[in-house]
Amino acid sequence: MVIYAAFLGGAGLFVGSFLGLVSWRLPRGEGVVLGRSRCGGCGRSIPPWRMVPVISWIMSRGRCAGCRATIPVRYPLMEMGAGLIGVWAGLHHAAFVPALLTAVLGWQLLLLAVVDAENFWLPDQLTAPLFLSGVAAAFWLRPDEPAAALAHALPGALIGFCGLWLIGRLYLAARGRVGLGGGDPFMLGAGGAWVGALALPTTLLWASAAGLSLVIAGLVSRRSIKATDRLPFGVFLAIGLWMTWLYGPLLAS
Ligand SMILES: [Zn+2]
Repeated sequence: MVIYAAFLGGAGLFVGSFLGLVSWRLPRGEGVVLGRSRCGGCGRSIPPWRMVPVISWIMSRGRCAGCRATIPVRYPLMEMGAGLIGVWAGLHHAAFVPALLTAVLGWQLLLLAVVDAENFWLPDQLTAPLFLSGVAAAFWLRPDEPAAALAHALPGALIGFCGLWLIGRLYLAARGRVGLGGGDPFMLGAGGAWVGALALPTTLLWASAAGLSLVIAGLVSRRSIKATDRLPFGVFLAIGLWMTWLYGPLLAS
């Protein structure tokens, strides 16, 4: 629905602004909710009218009004990303609640993907809310069937976590080095609460396809990627969960 897309897209710009802050502060151990937005260069607090997403960045040509320090392009990019997720979610659904839930999932995945890409870290502070919101979404989408909601979310979480944990252990045993980050099983488990157990193979298929495309792009552009190179698997899991949530398991009858 176009009206949902407009609303969630607009909301997404502001959500993205918050996500930009969280993804910067969390890995540095800074408080996320308290404290006003400040310039990273001169510490000057940013007035509210300068916090209008994307536009303020363009107007100020990506620089702080106080010290002219550049404001990293990651901020407007995350705002636009979260806005696009809102538009996508709104266009995908004919009813508001599923559209909102889809946007909430997408915004969390964006945050996890950015934090993992920048820090190779999937914090529990982000995967735990992904799990809890997945359980809540299962109930909200099945108002009269609490048993069905649990039967969707819990096996998805359990099998997602255990499956990827086991793959990580097998890789370690076979290759003698760690192939998966410690947060990856938690992320697939949390995402499993959203997509359900039957959709987990599709999620991993999407994630592998996304990872493989990156490797191929690297080969084509002749940047050698070694087997020991670290890849932020959380980014690919985010893509896999997003596509699977929207388009369902590939084995649907
Ligand atoms: Zn400044």
